[in-house]
Amino acid sequence: MEKHIAVIGGGIMGVSLAYKLAGQGMKVTVYERGDNLGGLASFMEYDGVRMDRFYHTILSSDTAMQELMEIGGVTNKRHFTITKQGFYDNGKQYDFNSPVDFMLFPPLNPIQRFRLGLQVIYAQFESDWHKMDTVPVEDWLVKVSGRGVYQKVWKPLLRAKFDSMAQNVPATYIWSRLRRMMGTRKGVTSKEMMCYLENGYYTVIEGLAKRCTEMGVSFHLKAPIEEVVIENGRAVGVKIGGEVKQYDAVVSTLASPILEKLLPSAPANFRALLAKQEYLGVLCPMVILKKSLIPYYVLNITDESIPFTAVVETTNLIDTQYTKGYHLVYLPKYLAPDNEMANWTDEQVKTEWMKHFRRMFPTFDESNIVEFIVQRARYVEPIRPMGTLDEIPPLKTPVDRLYMGNTVMIYPELGNGEAVTRYAQKVVEQLLVDVPKWTEAVKATS
Ligand SMILES: Cc1cc2nc3c(=O)[nH]c(=O)nc-3n(C[C@H](O)[C@H](O)[C@H](O)COP(=O)(O)OP(=O)(O)OC[C@H]3O[C@@H](n4cnc5c(N)ncnc54)[C@H](O)[C@@H]3O)c2cc1C
Repeated sequence: MEKHIAVIGGGIMGVSLAYKLAGQGMKVTVYERGDNLGGLASFMEYDGVRMDRFYHTILSSDTAMQELMEIGGVTNKRHFTITKQGFYDNGKQYDFNSPVDFMLFPPLNPIQRFRLGLQVIYAQFESDWHKMDTVPVEDWLVKVSGRGVYQKVWKPLLRAKFDSMAQNVPATYIWSRLRRMMGTRKGVTSKEMMCYLENGYYTVIEGLAKRCTEMGVSFHLKAPIEEVVIENGRAVGVKIGGEVKQYDAVVSTLASPILEKLLPSAPANFRALLAKQEYLGVLCPMVILKKSLIPYYVLNITDESIPFTAVVETTNLIDTQYTKGYHLVYLPKYLAPDNEMANWTDEQVKTEWMKHFRRMFPTFDESNIVEFIVQRARYVEPIRPMGTLDEIPPLKTPVDRLYMGNTVMIYPELGNGEAVTRYAQKVVEQLLVDVPKWTEAVKATS
């Protein structure tokens, strides 16, 4: 008999899961709290243009995402572009793309440049990441790059990604990033290939959701799940609007601490495990401009007195014919769980950000700023403290027929669309092993 599965959360993980489960002949219902699908990869509309809420790109090596574009029938809206990266150091902007740029990077002396290049190469040959998981990231980087390179390059990058938590993270994090970065290069001189979709990253989610609907998946928007209903140790359904809907199994794609709140009757030790998973949040103003600001897709900032840690101009990737001529710039700041900035009002953020924006770009005519829109999210980047691999929650939870998949679990891969989609496949494979063992079939209602 056809099994009916409830998927909680309509982000990339939820929609990928829905597609893959439906492809295995299961009936799927997706519940999404928000007004749209997409979660962190969702969009906002401005002047009739659909824009990514947070900057999103897909790399040429992201094969699972490329496949989703094919399934969603949106490859005709896909464009590959060569983009540039830069570094902002001491009031100046520097190119930082190829190994040649590393070798010529002016803020470093020749020996430091060589050691930086060596670090990138070293990461490609290191395959035992379990060993690196107990090594502090600073120790691993200083050993190969040296203290000077660490201070000038790695420390600002770590601050950008981990805020005050950078001290606690293992070497694995930078190793994963270096490997992802090199994955997009076909040789030492080749340029990074990124791709974008007309009307934003959401286009792939929209295409995939359309395909899912054709396969019989039901999507419920503005549908916050209040509880996963557990009876005799087994997930039997979900509660929404005070009403219980029964399913053969439930798959959660929620951030672990959010899921914990939906499980009042799960075993206490499992709830404690979910609750202790830590995440960085993000404050990410989006500035809509009439004119381009920088020549880079991303300009990393080394100056620690500037609150945002990068300037990301996505319209150096996306052709402005798809943004009504607007130039889109994001000024992100990742926030440790205890960072007070999370409580700042949008006005406070704008005042502080603009103070530093003017310092960085003194000649930029502010009449080119059309809008300054503060976007924020609480559960963005999971933090896996050193030596805590055994604290990653299990895909198959201690509650029978409750499964989970979220960015905490894809470690040591990075929390991006590619890794999330791949993880969705693992969840489906587990379900395929378990379904034949289910003896009772609960008649699902939706
Ligand atoms: C600033 C920024 C830049 C990024 N850049 C990139 C990039 O360039 N490339 C890339 O691949 N990735 C990027 N990412 C990462 C990417 O967005 C995430 O990896 C991905 O969106 C995670 O998808 P998910 O489905 O696991 O989680 P989410 O997107 O968080 O989805 C979870 C969903 O669950 C819903 N939900 C929560 N509670 C409930 C409830 N009670 N009931 C029902 N639904 C609920 C939420 O509304 C949400 O839609 C970026 C992220 C950020 C923040």
